[in-house]
Parts: sequence; structure tokens; C-alpha cells
Amino acid sequence: MKAIYCDVCKKAIENPIPTRTIFHFTDIDVCETCKDELDVAMKATVRTKAPFNYDWHDEIVLKILRDGVQRGRIDIKGRR
Ligand SMILES: [Zn+2]
Repeated sequence: MKAIYCDVCKKAIENPIPTRTIFHFTDIDVCETCKDELDVAMKATVRTKAPFNYDWHDEIVLKILRDGVQRGRIDIKGRR
């Protein structure tokens, strides 16, 4: 079986189960831990933006993920 690696933290994902232990966004695969971090980062960002709109929602998700791929972790605003 081909090992799948999280594109953000680069950890191997064992027995990947789509939408449970692996999450796929366009060309980026993320593990459960990084998906949780993404959700936290999104919550922090969405709070500052209104009204809700799926266009910018998806754009921000991808921006956070692409930053995460470069940094090796999801950057959560306000968390130090
Ligand atoms: Zn990860």
C-alpha cells in the first residue's frame, strides 16, 4: 500500500480513511491533526469577516493550507 503523507506536517498517515483520517483539498492532503488546526484557524478568521460567503471561505481555506505547506504547520492567528 502506498503511504500517504500529510502535505503540511509531512507525517505519514497510516490506514488513511477519506474524511476521517485524511482530508483532501484540491492538490493538498492533510492529516487529522492539521485539519483540526485548519478548523481553528478558519474560526479565528471567519469571526473577523461578515457576511459569510463560500467564495472567500474556500479561498481562505486554500490560503491557510498553502501557507501551512510552506511552514510545515498551520498558522493559527492570535496563538503564540
Ligand atoms: Zn499533518
